[in-house]
Formats: sequence, structure tokens, C-alpha cells
Amino acid sequence: MGRITGPVCRLCRRDGLKLFLKGSRCDTPKCAFERRSTPPGMVQRRRPKQTDYGLHLREKQKVKHYYGVLERQFRNYFAKAEQGKTNTGEALMSLLERRLDNVVHRMGFAASRAAARQMVQHGHITINGSRVDIPSYLVRAGDVVRVKNRKRSLQLVHSVLAEGRREVPDFLTRVDGGVPEGRVDRLPGADDVSIPVQANLIIELCSK
Ligand code: SF4
Repeated sequence: MGRITGPVCRLCRRDGLKLFLKGSRCDTPKCAFERRSTPPGMVQRRRPKQTDYGLHLREKQKVKHYYGVLERQFRNYFAKAEQGKTNTGEALMSLLERRLDNVVHRMGFAASRAAARQMVQHGHITINGSRVDIPSYLVRAGDVVRVKNRKRSLQLVHSVLAEGRREVPDFLTRVDGGVPEGRVDRLPGADDVSIPVQANLIIELCSK
């Protein structure tokens, strides 16, 4: 049997859930988590008991890996979430879901968030008709996210869509066509996050 984990898959095994960091491979039986879900370095042994701090930290790291954000960016999102009038945990997750790279991935235009980030940076995506090449751009309700109408951009997205149509979350609508596009119907809420997250643990950790 070949090597079944890489640095990325080790994150899934360490966090104990599928983080979908490797694009289409994550949906196949080749997924390292499906093949062996014990933490790296542990062979068929029980996961060690975690401290309270460890549990809090794990939730935060999980979310950072899932959305591909660094500590400084994460702190900025937290500060922004704290300023709002709504529940801080929900506001934090909503901000992360609104990132353009996440939206491009969840619309099914890119196989992973990393691929979506690159797609945005390379200018393959427009919002309301204007090119936006900032992956952290926060979409708003009513925004139309469209693939640029040029050969290379369309080839990229059509090849991903041809691999299988990813289910689009409730807050988005995808319109398949010659030039694929999608609309942000409303701002995302806690129910729109596709991994189980205990946001309250993250808030407790970041508030200390
Ligand atoms: Fe690797 Fe994706 Fe499976 Fe995670 S979900 S273990 S990144 S293949």
C-alpha cells in the first residue's frame, strides 16, 4: 500500500474529522481519513485525553485549517465579530463563510478552498461584473459571483464542475451555463457551516 497521508491529511486525522483540504480526492475512497482515522503516529490506539485548553485550541485550529486563515487574520475576524450586536460565535463563522475563496469553493467552482484562493488571485472571478482578486473579500447579500468570460477561466471551472456537482449551501444559488455564476441570496448563518464547530469554545479561548 502506498503512502496514505501527507501534511494536509494529517490535519484531518489530528483534528478527528474531514476538513476537505485536498479537493476532489476528499470525496473518494482514497481519502486518508476514510482509510485510517487514528491521529498521526498512532496505530489503532485510543486518542489521548485532551486538556480543557487543548479542546478549546483544537476547535480554533480546526476552523483556521478549514478556511485556510492565519492567526493574525483569525484575530482580525474575531475582533470584527466582537464588535457586532449578534452572538460573537455566529458572527465569527458568518465572516469566515463570507470569504470569497470559501464562496467560490462552496459554489462548486473549485475543488478546494486552496484552489479557490488561487483562482481568485489569478483573476478568474468577478463580483457584480468587476474583477476581484482578493480571496478574503467578504461577499454581501445580493452579490453575483461570476467566472470570468475567458477561455482559461471557463476551462478551469468547467473541468471542476464536470467532476461532479457539489451541493450548494442554502445561502447561495448557482446558475450553471456557458459562463457559470452564482448569487449570494443572504448572509450565511451558523447552520450554513458544513463542519461541526463549537464556536463557543473558540470565543472563550480568544476572549482570555
Ligand atoms: Fe486528506 Fe481530504 Fe481526506 Fe482530509 S478529507 S484526509 S484532506 S483526502
